[in-house]
Amino acid sequence: MVHEGLKKLLNGVAAATRQAHRAPDSVTLIAVSKTFDGPEIIPVIEAGQRVFGENRVQEAKAKWPALKMDWPDVELHLIGPLQSNKTAEAVQLFDAIHTVDRPKIAAEIAKEMRKQAKPVKLFVQVNTGREPQKAGIDPDRADAFLAECRELHGLEISGLMCIPPAGEDPAPHFSLLAEIARRNGLSQLSMGMSGDYATAIACGATYVRVGSAIFGTRG
Ligand SMILES: *Cc1c(COP(=O)(O)O)cnc(C)c1O
Repeated sequence: MVHEGLKKLLNGVAAATRQAHRAPDSVTLIAVSKTFDGPEIIPVIEAGQRVFGENRVQEAKAKWPALKMDWPDVELHLIGPLQSNKTAEAVQLFDAIHTVDRPKIAAEIAKEMRKQAKPVKLFVQVNTGREPQKAGIDPDRADAFLAECRELHGLEISGLMCIPPAGEDPAPHFSLLAEIARRNGLSQLSMGMSGDYATAIACGATYVRVGSAIFGTRG
């Protein structure tokens, strides 16, 4: 089955990947389904998409367990801030968490992964714009925090994630994230949304998180 929004986006991702002289399979699309329900999500699954993103634990818990019964191979990524009292549910529900950003959350995730014997792919969120209201570790503290995740909590971190400040050129933020990843030996970069995924791919994104360009405007 064909889903026009998904098809258009996959074509756009493929074009940006080609233009960046990168391998076709080096970028994974995360379809961000926040605020959308089964009737909007199912056609995208039926069109072949298997990686989805949600920004709230409670919302994901309300809609994905039922969908996963029918499509157990769907991979679910948490891309929104995580509160420590939701960590157990998040580890249970999600295959990846993009928003590890402070020691307390790192410790909680490590504890829950052990308790549930559940591996989760982890990304550290970096606040590349140093915005006070935004989640993420300060860029100057990223190296120390990554070392703490590894050494103190035994966590394997796969990569880094960022959300550039609204209304700014995102390229310098993507490049800063790529530079922090490079010097810490991390291969995965979660960056780029509907409006800037092509720029993110040019800067090395391995995961792009795209919602409205696939599903339409959120209500
Ligand atoms: C909502 C959201 C996205 C997707 O945004 P769109 O502009 O709809 O593509 C990506 N990343 C995060 C963290 C989000 O919360």
